Amino acid sequence: MAQHQFQTEVSRLLHLIIHSLYSNREIFLRELVSNASDALDKLKYLTVADEAYKSLSFDPRIDISFNKDAKTLTISDNGIGMNEADLVDSLGTIARSGTRAFLEKLADDAKKDSNLIGQFGVGFYSAFMVADKIEVITRKAAEGSAWKWTSDGKEGYEIEAAARDSQGTTVILHLTEEGTEYTNRWSIEDIIKRYSNHVAFPIYLTYDEKEYDDKGKEKSSKTKTDRINSGTALWRRSKSELKEEDYNEFYKSLGTQFGGDTDEPLFYIHTKAEGALEYSTLFYIPKKAPFDMYNVDYKPGVKLYVKRVFITDDDKELMPTWLRFVRGVIDSEDLPLNVSREILQQNKVLLNIKSASVKKILSELKIISENNKEKWETFVSQFNRPLKEGLYQDYANRDSIQELVRFKSTAVEEGWTSFAEYVSRMKSDQKHIYYIAGGNEQTLRSSPLLEAYRAKEIEVLIMDDEIDELVIPSLHSYTQSKDSGGDKADGKTESQSWELKAVNRAGADEELGEKQDKAAEKEAKPVIEKIKKALGDKVKEVKLSRRLHDSPSCIVADENDPSMQMAQMLRAMGQTEMPEIKPILEVNGDHPIVVGLKDTDDEERIADTAAVLLDQALLVEGVKIKDPADFVKRLNRLLSK
Ligand code: ADP
Repeated sequence: MAQHQFQTEVSRLLHLIIHSLYSNREIFLRELVSNASDALDKLKYLTVADEAYKSLSFDPRIDISFNKDAKTLTISDNGIGMNEADLVDSLGTIARSGTRAFLEKLADDAKKDSNLIGQFGVGFYSAFMVADKIEVITRKAAEGSAWKWTSDGKEGYEIEAAARDSQGTTVILHLTEEGTEYTNRWSIEDIIKRYSNHVAFPIYLTYDEKEYDDKGKEKSSKTKTDRINSGTALWRRSKSELKEEDYNEFYKSLGTQFGGDTDEPLFYIHTKAEGALEYSTLFYIPKKAPFDMYNVDYKPGVKLYVKRVFITDDDKELMPTWLRFVRGVIDSEDLPLNVSREILQQNKVLLNIKSASVKKILSELKIISENNKEKWETFVSQFNRPLKEGLYQDYANRDSIQELVRFKSTAVEEGWTSFAEYVSRMKSDQKHIYYIAGGNEQTLRSSPLLEAYRAKEIEVLIMDDEIDELVIPSLHSYTQSKDSGGDKADGKTESQSWELKAVNRAGADEELGEKQDKAAEKEAKPVIEKIKKALGDKVKEVKLSRRLHDSPSCIVADENDPSMQMAQMLRAMGQTEMPEIKPILEVNGDHPIVVGLKDTDDEERIADTAAVLLDQALLVEGVKIKDPADFVKRLNRLLSK
């Protein structure tokens, strides 16, 4: 029997583990199972890649058993195993730079925060949180002798010759009093399901099933062995061996965890990256928006695995918020097992995976938008709005998102249009993209502000989503990049930008090329003055309109003011501190109601008409009027004259 001292760093680590309160003790099992799985992976690789191991018959598995009376818990694998030198190297020293860094950090840290332990992989040694003695009986594949490593986790360990029938490693934990909570079937199953369900090798649990008689005396005891992990790391399998049913089944199995979606997904995106970064991702787009999509505390839909070991399903950082409806799995080969949240968020590997995933999802959406009308329409009906959030949240992907968002339009009676389609319909002399926002579709479609555009056959996008008024001004313009369908034959260059112009702005009529008619202005001036005087400070200004054809009046917003609808929405959202926004009233000089004011000095009639011109313009834009009773009274008075 050979006595060994632990490397100084191991002693320090063990001391910390044993003497610091550990909030998340159960992870020791995840660590040991992960080691076993690694050992199986290594041997599996050798049996494929190395002639010397090819003859080895090998049915990889992990076995767990416990003994209540002896207070032991045993984790066993038939993987690569260790020889004497491996034992010294692996279980007597700290090879991992992460652990070393952890210890250095602890040395600097005056407080020696015990929580820090949880942020780093402490691997095998974490078992000393629940055990005061550990035995490791192991035999390396293709070697004749077996070894036993024993330690109480204090100063050192012993290594002696042992016996083991075949290759692999058996770890026997002699549990502490607190550790005995793991000597029951249910807690083991629960922990494995939580952390190691997708370890790709089968994990078996052996336990005694006892029957008792009426008097509570044990009648019989049967030893049973059940598989306790599902082991379908589907996302790691190659795409060619998977069928659509497999993906759909897996999605449904995720369903219960993701708020019970038992429907089939709309589509899935499976990626296996090999190269600088090695990872697998499997994303699903549901058919229906998750019920909590608009809650601040929505449940994130993506789970993080590291080497098939579950890390978290509660990290909103794994996907940008505007893709919060995406469900699925990220599994990385290049992350440490015990990455903490704090570390996750700045982790370069994860940031790279995330950004590649977003790009992949966007490019897949583009393909669907071009090739699968039915799926695309379902997608738009459910997820157009979060996608628009991406327009102002995700600058880096703005170009791609611009091509995916959809709008209603005066040129499309039912359904949706894209910026690109709008642009392809534009007349050659049209310089901007026009839109009308604020209010429901019906209100917007019947707005008097559209009259001039209709007369000139200019398309206007109907922005009836609340979020449009926030997003579109921040977008400012639509830029068509080279590969997004610019049609050169039409004289449109490869990369071109169009400003987005709201039609309810004070200057929008000028952009439309409506000429100022000096004579008409002069003629209308007295009427305008009368209305202005009657309305007083209810309006910012009264102007002769150049954009109205049929309606007598409309309201527009000053260039730098929010629109009335926007102000209304912000107030409804609780922003009561908003300064009052006054509209600019535009009147149609040719309309009989306005013309009728020319030759009258009847103060009451002027006041009633002016008030009705303002209120109806507000009403038609979906803005609540201040005093409906006053509006009705004035209207009735005018009608009875
Ligand atoms: P890590 O697994 O992160 O490297 P651990 O402290 O958990 O750190 O394990 C240290 C080393 O011990 C492993 O890298 C591996 O070489 C060896 N080891 C642990 N468990 C096993 C096992 N079941 N079979 C083979 N080797 C193992």
